[in-house]
Amino acid sequence: MMAAQAPVLELNDGNKIPVVALGTGRGTAAGAAIDEVRHAVYQAIKAGYRHIDTAAIYQDEPQVGQGIADAIAEGLVKREDLFVTTKLWSDKHAQDEVVPALRESLGRLGLDYVDLYLIHFPIALKADGSASDIDYVETWRGMEEAKKQGLAKSIGVSNFNSAQIDRLISNSQIKPAVNQIEVNPSLTQEPLVSHCQELGIAVMAYSPFGFLVTRKVNTSPPPRIDDPSLVAMGKKYGKSTGQIVLRYLIDRGLIIIPKSANEQRIAENIDLFDFSLTKEEIATIGQFNKNIRVIEPIRWKDYPNYPFEK
Ligand code: NDP
Repeated sequence: MMAAQAPVLELNDGNKIPVVALGTGRGTAAGAAIDEVRHAVYQAIKAGYRHIDTAAIYQDEPQVGQGIADAIAEGLVKREDLFVTTKLWSDKHAQDEVVPALRESLGRLGLDYVDLYLIHFPIALKADGSASDIDYVETWRGMEEAKKQGLAKSIGVSNFNSAQIDRLISNSQIKPAVNQIEVNPSLTQEPLVSHCQELGIAVMAYSPFGFLVTRKVNTSPPPRIDDPSLVAMGKKYGKSTGQIVLRYLIDRGLIIIPKSANEQRIAENIDLFDFSLTKEEIATIGQFNKNIRVIEPIRWKDYPNYPFEK
């Protein structure tokens, strides 16, 4: 398969973000071991990916950095060709902890800057995992400082709901460039996606496959990988069910973060730009919505700023 390139979107700060990122978080994806990450990142860059998504909490920033270094050493890309996203974990939400936490991430990645730094959750935690009452507006001041220092070219949030986005914007100088949230056929998130897009905030869709493949096999909501309507769309376009679901998200203007450690699926997940779905097909996939989440951190449901409906 030839290397595919993803188009870019312009963020509200003028930076450009490739619309396909390799996901590297493994806690949520069955079976991926940390030593696979270096190879997956290298393989993804070889397959045409220019955007890699990681986070301090994934504990794989060293492997991500090594995969990037391998690709650069081989002359596949230069640093400036890549877009690297990482995230601030919830136990470093005090304003003066943000820049040091980012510097630690940069050290692990072996980079001088990231392209995008996100507040991973609006919830703040103490070091022991108990609730902290630090306000994400305070955390955002630290994020603004990280951007001003050039350590992060763009800054944004993750897992923020509409009210939290609005409150953040009314209380800060720099508008978030991105909100990274779960979006897939079981959780289509029309209201939150529209709200962000109307505000000029780009939406990154995590867990893009939803329950399509491996999770909670007996209790998962549809669609599954053999769903007849998705299979029919796949036949029409000569694509796999996974590619149909990813293209559905692209056609909604989202930036997707498929995770794979498999060379063939890594290539498949960016081979999306020679077809598009019709309005009717997008609507058909939208009808799977059940507002059911893959990622539901209910252990935090009574913590301040829990972002999801309880
Ligand atoms: P995904 O929806 O990307 O699903 C990953 C699973 O799908 C893996 O088991 C993978 O297996 C399989 N898979 C990959 N490609 C295909 C394909 N073409 N056909 C069939 N199966 C496929 O889930 P994640 O939860 O990992 O989310 C993706 C990324 O989003 C994370 O890695 C992380 O970077 C980010 N994320 C962010 C969160 C946040 O709070 N901001 C929360 C959760 C995720 P295999 O590897 O064998 O291909």
